[in-house]
Amino acid sequence: PIPVQEYLTRAYRDYPEKVAIHFLGKDLTYQELYESALKFANYLRSLGIQKGDRVAIMLPNCPQNVIGYYGILYAGGIVVQTNPLYTEREIAYQMKDSGAKAILSLDILFPRISKVIKETNLENIIITGIKDYLPFPKNLVYPFIQKKQYGFTVKVEHRGMNHLFPEVMKVGKAQEIDVPFDFEEDVAILQYTGGTTGFPKGVMLSHKNLIANASMCDAWLYRCKKGEETILGILPFFHVYGMTTVMILSVMLGNRMVLLPKFDVDSALKTIDKQKPTLFPGAPTIYIGLLNHPDIAKYDLSSIQACLSGSAPLPVEVQEKFEEVTGGKLVEGYGLTESSPVTHANFVWDNERIKGSVGVPWPDTEAAIFQVDSTEPMPPREIGEICVRGPQIMKGYWNRPEDTENTMRDGWLLTGDLGYMDEKGFFYVVDRKKDMIIAGGFNIYPREIEEVLYEHPAIQECVAVGVPDPYRGETVKAYVVLKEDHQVTEEELNAFCREHLAAFKVPRIYEFRKELPKTAVGKILRRSLVEEEKEKYR
Ligand code: ATP
Repeated sequence: PIPVQEYLTRAYRDYPEKVAIHFLGKDLTYQELYESALKFANYLRSLGIQKGDRVAIMLPNCPQNVIGYYGILYAGGIVVQTNPLYTEREIAYQMKDSGAKAILSLDILFPRISKVIKETNLENIIITGIKDYLPFPKNLVYPFIQKKQYGFTVKVEHRGMNHLFPEVMKVGKAQEIDVPFDFEEDVAILQYTGGTTGFPKGVMLSHKNLIANASMCDAWLYRCKKGEETILGILPFFHVYGMTTVMILSVMLGNRMVLLPKFDVDSALKTIDKQKPTLFPGAPTIYIGLLNHPDIAKYDLSSIQACLSGSAPLPVEVQEKFEEVTGGKLVEGYGLTESSPVTHANFVWDNERIKGSVGVPWPDTEAAIFQVDSTEPMPPREIGEICVRGPQIMKGYWNRPEDTENTMRDGWLLTGDLGYMDEKGFFYVVDRKKDMIIAGGFNIYPREIEEVLYEHPAIQECVAVGVPDPYRGETVKAYVVLKEDHQVTEEELNAFCREHLAAFKVPRIYEFRKELPKTAVGKILRRSLVEEEKEKYR
């Protein structure tokens, strides 16, 4: 077993000339990536970064993100991935919580970071522009960093506060650093949970966790031809899902990753057409967005062989339609930040998939349904909490031993998701424990309602939530986004739901919206809708 960054060293030795990253029309070879990462690492060491120090990255997907990530690991540091959309308050929280000493970020985000820097342990900010990938532009322009505005001139100092990425690449030495590593015990990253259910917690993922999960993904689903695949990197690397199933996996196998700094349907379709990715991990909202593009038929999507859909339930008709359009496989997976993230996929080689199931546990992964708040196994088809055990399960939460204790028992991770297993060992996610709606004493799982609504031909996106109700305690409200050029009334939706759902589950309130709030990986932010509703009742 070798740590995450050693796979970059290997890829460099095996394929120095092969393209590691394709980004906005430019290529970076494995040699360039390896040398850049070492330069970054040596520069960090010159700033005083030692083994175990936390260094943050707050970037969209771009070469600097990958260079920074591997550079931090080569230096012996721990990566703290940070969402570039975070507000000042959120940045301050994550920097304070992780104790990060340095951060690599974008010029346009600098004002936000500089406002909170005093509240944090940050000593050094390394700034990059989105165009700062190799070859470096001759005339660097950082329009957002001006003396007048922020009270200092940016200059490169080895013991200063602010550093420009291209200068780091010039000054840093491309030399290997001798840092001792413990594959099992050393934390590689602090990955903050998405926060859809509360305050983000820093999940400690070790080198073993990450390598185990990327290897499982390859063995069970992708079966990569080493050095020959192209992986489409739409999922952000600041989220564990994109980090493991695109970046780590791609470098591990010497593949080419094609990066997009953000998801928009047009550029995703154009990129697939031109760059011919073979593998394309994503989330249901991404696949739904592509399928609903009016010009999808104009693009050649036939290079796609395998897609892994995670983070939220994948509607069956989306899976079927996407497979029909691309000719590749779209496989639903399941997992969470605490499990690096994937634990299940609805795919067993040479066997049929079971509709609506998240499949079976990945190799080396144990999964069980326990009675909520105990480790008593539930019989098949009875709902309990999904629990998982395996080499991808986190070491624990950073500085939160109590939360760790409440989430892990005898090596089992209690996922907080309700589900059941069938007689064949296939798993089904019913809902999150916290999302369950209790209306008039009945337990209602929003997912069941959403699945019915998704079957309606006019509906593009939907989410069902529980809202306060004076008689039933809670009642069901559905938020609905309609497909372009489609119309439907509340009465029609109500009649449709009545046909397919028991009366107590039928939404009492419908709200039509143009879009729904989403997380960085495209998961609908149920919590913010629930909060909006609660606000109304306050
Ligand atoms: P937080 O944990 O902070 O509330 P989050 O929901 O964004 O935020 P993640 O770790 O990114 O946290 O998401 C993991 C959760 O996503 C799982 O616990 C599960 O509820 C949901 N999930 C993942 N895959 C699926 C799937 N295929 N079907 C249904 N739900 C899924």
